[in-house]
Amino acid sequence: MIDRFETIRQRMVQEQLTSRGIDDSKVLDVMGEVPRHLFVDDAMQANAYGDYPLPIVDGQTISQPFIVAYMTQALQLTGVEKVLEIGTGSGYQAVILSRLCEKVYTVERLNSLLARARRIFDRLHCYNIQSRLDDGTLGWPEYAPYDAIMVTAGGPEIPEPLLAQLADPGRMVIPVGDQDVQELQLVTRKDGLIQVEVLERVRFVNLVGEYGWEK
Ligand code: SAH
Repeated sequence: MIDRFETIRQRMVQEQLTSRGIDDSKVLDVMGEVPRHLFVDDAMQANAYGDYPLPIVDGQTISQPFIVAYMTQALQLTGVEKVLEIGTGSGYQAVILSRLCEKVYTVERLNSLLARARRIFDRLHCYNIQSRLDDGTLGWPEYAPYDAIMVTAGGPEIPEPLLAQLADPGRMVIPVGDQDVQELQLVTRKDGLIQVEVLERVRFVNLVGEYGWEK
């Protein structure tokens, strides 16, 4: 999509992603295409491509572009996957994923956010995103198993239902830690074996739910 932010968006890809080691060309392409400014308040559109997270509503945030690209790249999507995202938020991450896999299932617990995200999915013709209002720590059993799972809020541990809904082979990225800082964990299941690799230190908003924080 060509719009007035085209130049600034390509600069974001160069200066924040390529230069820091994001090298999956399909991830770089979609980060250079998706109009991130549509996912933030009108008053903040000029900041949408900055090197930081931005507030959306209800104290929630849209992750920094680098984190979005980094977590997406970690899933190693080839285009055929079924992906579960927990924490729809603005919908930005779901749209990025939707262009790299077959189908995205995304779960959000706050109706205000989900309603807004759904309007953007329609506007951008993202017909391969299905969304649901619920506690995402329970996953979305109906369509399990998922080839990839991305959790975009931080919890004290990996929710058991999400592990149960991860396919074999399957990959999940999830921030795990306390309410201030977390480590981004890459969980892989292969031949029945679960492995956990620690990637980066990150700061996410709370994952609130039965297998997350109380609030
Ligand atoms: N992926 C989002 C970032 C969202 S911030 C984006 O691209 O904008 C984290 C989101 O997780 C918030 O919207 C928050 O309401 C949501 N969240 C927190 N706990 C949740 C839960 N148990 N189930 C579903 N969503 C949850």
